[in-house]
Amino acid sequence: MVSRMPKQKSPPILAANWKMNGDIQSIKRLLDGLRNDLFDEEIKPGQVVVFPPHVYLQMVAKNIGNTNILLGGQDADERESGSVTGGVSAKMLRDVGCDYVLLGHSERRILFSEDNDGIFQKLKQASNVGLKAIVCVGENLEQRKAGQVLEVISSQLKALISQDTSSQPEELLIAYEPVWAIGSNKSATIEQIGYALAEIRKILRDIDTDFYESTKILYGGSVTEKNIGEILAIDVVDGALIGGASLDSKSFSKIWRIAKTI
Ligand code: PEP
Repeated sequence: MVSRMPKQKSPPILAANWKMNGDIQSIKRLLDGLRNDLFDEEIKPGQVVVFPPHVYLQMVAKNIGNTNILLGGQDADERESGSVTGGVSAKMLRDVGCDYVLLGHSERRILFSEDNDGIFQKLKQASNVGLKAIVCVGENLEQRKAGQVLEVISSQLKALISQDTSSQPEELLIAYEPVWAIGSNKSATIEQIGYALAEIRKILRDIDTDFYESTKILYGGSVTEKNIGEILAIDVVDGALIGGASLDSKSFSKIWRIAKTI
């Protein structure tokens, strides 16, 4: 049985994945909205992280510069530098003010055929330059229907992190994002989230208890102001990765206000 009761735990982390949305004007409007509704809040560093498209990173970095909101890139290349047309390296993300990088998002796994080995290489690059990484794992609908949730999550995690804990980033966060729940308005249920996150915690402990004890685990998939309260109240949930609802400053600020009471 998954606990729904709020308990004493670290303040939740809200990660805002803006994906490939917006332009200079709309991102300025989004930032203005956040300035009105969120920037004065008492946010601890790392509690809110925004992931704008790469080309707008510097603009956003400037805008959030005097707040505790941190910046992340939506991806980083698996190579350090060189002849990779269109590539953005982990070092470049660092250079423009990122503290975080999002890796292995299902959209990248699907649209760019990213596999676990490549994501592991990206994680190493991130680690080398001191970026904190949020790595996404999760099953698609077919895999869920076939009863393969654990198998999928476990193989994604083990391929990524069992190889060499010495090359892991200082801070690794895992986001459980069932592919079918992303952008679908159909969040996973409290029971499904609680189960998957508890299993992720077990898998991490089995790999290396000391190293992964403090790993934060987030949930992502159709999180809104309507469900954030009950999701964050699950005792194994450390935060949320939010796509669609993070593109609207009012919705995201409402989510924050609910989150800070948990
Ligand atoms: C995401 O893409 O990481 C995500 C969680 O999207 P949404 O909140 O829109 O489902």
